[in-house]
Amino acid sequence: MEKIASLKHKVVIITGGTRGIGFAAVQGFLRSGAKVAMLGSRKETVDHALDLLKKENPNYPVQGYYPDLNSEQEVQHLLEEVEKDLGSVDILINNAGISDAKSIYEYDDEHFSKVMQLNVDAVFRMIRMCAPIMKKKGKGAIVNTSSMVSLYAQRSGSAYPTSKFAINGLTKSLARELGKDGIRVNAVAPGIIETDMVKELDERIIQAMASQIPLQRIGQPEDIAHAMMYLASDMASFVNGAILSVDGGFVG
Ligand code: NAD
Repeated sequence: MEKIASLKHKVVIITGGTRGIGFAAVQGFLRSGAKVAMLGSRKETVDHALDLLKKENPNYPVQGYYPDLNSEQEVQHLLEEVEKDLGSVDILINNAGISDAKSIYEYDDEHFSKVMQLNVDAVFRMIRMCAPIMKKKGKGAIVNTSSMVSLYAQRSGSAYPTSKFAINGLTKSLARELGKDGIRVNAVAPGIIETDMVKELDERIIQAMASQIPLQRIGQPEDIAHAMMYLASDMASFVNGAILSVDGGFVG
């Protein structure tokens, strides 16, 4: 995995950091010398991810947390803990998200809200509560996780593309609003990435998906982690409000 020098000593909060794209981002930032607050939804998954990281390097400056991202009180407590453990936040990576495949005929309001609460409301809350800290420093970088479905939608699970269209809107709006405070807001829009869910699919299905992609392969979590690291770093100091597609050139 590549390293980016300007990430050294930066305090990075990564939601959904225990597996998949988020875990690759945790590894990437740590290998670049950043201090990482790795968030997950449960103690067991956070502890497991911490074990893996400590095996790689017992001296990594990484701490695990599992706040309820939909509780303002828990997020407030998290930010105080991170400041005590690692320092105040410089970079926020909003990666946690759930996908969906339900037909509109199977939906109820509660299910739609569940997807929106994690994929949109929690992202908004994290930004709302981290931005004042970054503003005080006069500098900060926020990277949200959109999806290629924010360009092409999908045939079912309409809450998921709806949430990712919202992420693009939030990213572009807050880029305009927060730019004057030295805070850049961007998003990555991953294509098909080989995370646990995709790994379980039959090899022929994966091949069929790959053949639709101009680069003839599906993405790896590191492909997205690299884009997150770039957008968070000083290499992207004039990039603001971008939705960066990282999808091998896939066209819906
Ligand atoms: P994943 O399911 O492998 O990991 C999701 C992470 O989110 C986990 O660390 C989990 O702990 C966390 N999470 C789930 N529910 C949570 C909750 N209620 N509260 C707090 N944390 C919770 O996911 P992934 O495939 O690595 O996807 C990461 C992001 O990338 C998501 O936002 C997803 O929408 C986006 N994305 C993924 C793909 C893909 O092909 N994998 C494509 C486009 C976009």
